[in-house]
Amino acid sequence: MFRVLVTDDVDQEGLALLAAEPQLQVDEVPTLPKDELLARIGDYDAIVGRSATRISAELLKAATKLKVVGRAGVGIDNIALDVATSLGVAVINAPAGNTVAVAELFYGTVIGLLRQIPRAADVMTNGRWDRASFMGRELKGKTLGIVGLGRIGSEVAARAHAFGMSVVAYDPYIADERFAALRVRRAASLDALLAETNILTLHVPLTDETKGLIGKRELTRLPNRSVVVNLARGGIVDEVALFAALEADQLRGAVLDVFAAEPLAADSPLRQAPNLLLTPHLGANTVEAQRNVSRDVCLAVRDALLRNDLSKSINVAGGAGEWGDLQPAMLVTRRAAAVARAVLADQGMRAVRRVALRVSPDLAHGTGALLAAVAAGVLEGVIETDRLNLINARSLAEARGLELSVGESNELGARTVEVALAGGMQQLAVTGVAPEGSTPRLTQIGSFHIDVNPRQTLLILTNHDVPGVIGRVGTLLGEQHVNIAEYHQARLAQGGDALAAVSVDGTVSEATRKALLDLPDVVTASVVHFRDE
Ligand code: NAD
Repeated sequence: MFRVLVTDDVDQEGLALLAAEPQLQVDEVPTLPKDELLARIGDYDAIVGRSATRISAELLKAATKLKVVGRAGVGIDNIALDVATSLGVAVINAPAGNTVAVAELFYGTVIGLLRQIPRAADVMTNGRWDRASFMGRELKGKTLGIVGLGRIGSEVAARAHAFGMSVVAYDPYIADERFAALRVRRAASLDALLAETNILTLHVPLTDETKGLIGKRELTRLPNRSVVVNLARGGIVDEVALFAALEADQLRGAVLDVFAAEPLAADSPLRQAPNLLLTPHLGANTVEAQRNVSRDVCLAVRDALLRNDLSKSINVAGGAGEWGDLQPAMLVTRRAAAVARAVLADQGMRAVRRVALRVSPDLAHGTGALLAAVAAGVLEGVIETDRLNLINARSLAEARGLELSVGESNELGARTVEVALAGGMQQLAVTGVAPEGSTPRLTQIGSFHIDVNPRQTLLILTNHDVPGVIGRVGTLLGEQHVNIAEYHQARLAQGGDALAAVSVDGTVSEATRKALLDLPDVVTASVVHFRDE
């Protein structure tokens, strides 16, 4: 018998699925004060809740029987994920159930803005009758520009056709076939999308790449009197720049459901901005979405407890477990994939289609785990990171149309992996080795032999093999206070092309990367910031 504690207001439909299982005893309580929860948690195998209950490190440590934390919703900011992972507690959330709710809120708010529905309703409530002030605009014939054609972006696109809109999207990580299936035109760049967009909507995760994605510069690239909508995450649109563009009447209007700091401060200037429709993070707030996420999370918690099925868990089950001896190889595999993706992206190939992993025979027993590591490496920095881990990476990659394959090869030395990524006509293979008892190393990028430990950040430079390049790179990094841990220079032939793999401490800014590119004889510069496993 497993005991499940349900706190917060979780929809009944999912709870009924748990209660129907004879081996599960479900105790439903309102959101409990911290101390009371702490006193009770030791009796439970699983806890299911929403964001109101904080699953802190202290709580997890007191929960000696706990196997699963279920979150009915997407955000897991209230859960100490690293602690859960290190304690072997599976954390399960429900990322897909609210997709339609967000897509519908998009149309509700945009039409509300364009027809000034909230203000017109206010006028009526105040006893007046005023038609002249409320001349609206239609969606038909307008160009909808979608940034991020994932789950929500796709649902928004599908509905746009019914409104007679022209739909263009920018998502470098999605293959052409997906664009074609959704009847969406592909924009070659964000700037190209902005140039032709009347209504801009963001459906990307908040990542290093998307933070501040829409700032002053981008807003000025939109045609005059466009509309900007952010229902994704606060911080993707620069709030100060948006406020200024609205004040200047450069934009027709904007919709924000998410904010850099939530709840939005009572005295935030945004509350007074002209033609700005604000909603308090309502994207997932529908009865249907809450039912969907409750069903999804309760089924996953049931399967985790009764069938040991952890495929929906967003953290690595048990930390080590049977994957223990494979962990160095998984690490180097993931990093090789991240390097290959970054180098290809800098060569203009971002929509990876095929991922081929080859492993030496002594790693053949771990191909499942290594394939998960490769998928995680390809996807990290591209999709919402708190949803990506070694358990779910493969299914996420496959759902995005990536073809994953794995094979054993006698040609590879001991404990060696080779990750080859391909898309369009381009391909790049990166090789790594995870020797027993010593640090994992990357040993080859394309045709270049290297030997470097991919620790925190790896810089990959290609340059002409002429004297002085290493010195100039070293000096520039020194001036930027970037500390070099290892510098490995490789070349194919004297005076030809050369490649440097530079492992550095901390991070490397975009400005430093650009400065490296400006150095004489440096041809490309890629930066890969590795995420902690
Ligand atoms: P998803 O992972 O299915 O899709 C995100 C897409 O963004 C992916 O296709 C990815 O390729 C693309 N992408 C990543 N980086 C990009 C970049 N730099 N440029 C262009 N495209 C890029 O996610 P989803 O489920 O569709 O969610 C989208 C967003 O909506 C997330 O930020 C999520 O947190 C947010 N969300 C908000 C609410 C709400 O209440 N307002 C509810 C649910 C989800």
